[in-house]
Amino acid sequence: MEEKEEIASNEPVVGNTNIVYVPIDKINVPAERVTSQFDAEVQKELMESIKQKGVLTPIILIEVNGELWLVDGYNRIRACEELGIKEIPAIIKKGTYQDVVIENLITARQKGKSNPYDEAKTLAFLVNKLGMSLEEARKQMGISQTTAIRYMKVATLPDEIFNICRANNVPITGAVFLTLLNDPEKQREIANDAVHFGYTSEQIKARVYWELGNKEKSQEVGYQFTATGEVQPVYPKCHFCHKDIVKDAVYIWLHQECKALIEEFAKYYWAPREETKHEEGEMQ
Ligand SMILES: [Zn+2]
Repeated sequence: MEEKEEIASNEPVVGNTNIVYVPIDKINVPAERVTSQFDAEVQKELMESIKQKGVLTPIILIEVNGELWLVDGYNRIRACEELGIKEIPAIIKKGTYQDVVIENLITARQKGKSNPYDEAKTLAFLVNKLGMSLEEARKQMGISQTTAIRYMKVATLPDEIFNICRANNVPITGAVFLTLLNDPEKQREIANDAVHFGYTSEQIKARVYWELGNKEKSQEVGYQFTATGEVQPVYPKCHFCHKDIVKDAVYIWLHQECKALIEEFAKYYWAPREETKHEEGEMQ
């Protein structure tokens, strides 16, 4: 570790990819950062390893107008704080706050720690607060147009609803349909039911239509709901007896027994006379 440079003063040294030691209290943590699930056990192990070996992987910081912003290394900082370590090895780059937000997201994603809800919040922040165009922001984040539009919608959900969905990994492609409801009470109810009953995306979509009074559209998606929000499949109707086809469908529109019945009718009533005669012998 010869390249590492101890800094005596409070002024952090800005390097390129040089590792420098930075006072932890000089580091700003962006509110918009992508958060990994906090795991107390992992954190304990991290603290133990830092106690034994020190911080081996430098944290990543971006300097924006003289302020240091964290891109990667939140858990290491927390561990050092708990251990009473005042300085931490860091790689400092220059950039904008925009870079801080985007690089934090990319880093989290590369570590497999990103989640779609945090990505949605990040995208909305870049567009709504930092004034980036949706197109530019989504390209820098590396997401498709469809995903970007979905993320922007989900980010408009009230914080409480958003957090229910995020904390319980409600499928985001379903959560986006909650934005069709104007009533936060209803949004909360469906979000909670989605968690409780483990709705799929399609089931959330159907439930929202159901709630909007569009039961036909809900059934078209393939589901209907009880008063308590329990999901029930919608079965195709038999064209012969008009009852649900729950199982044993020979065709999507006929029960097996109804088909047999129709075939019986056909044999005796609708079969052409010539053929009936021919078959008489065979049928004895
Ligand atoms: Zn039938």
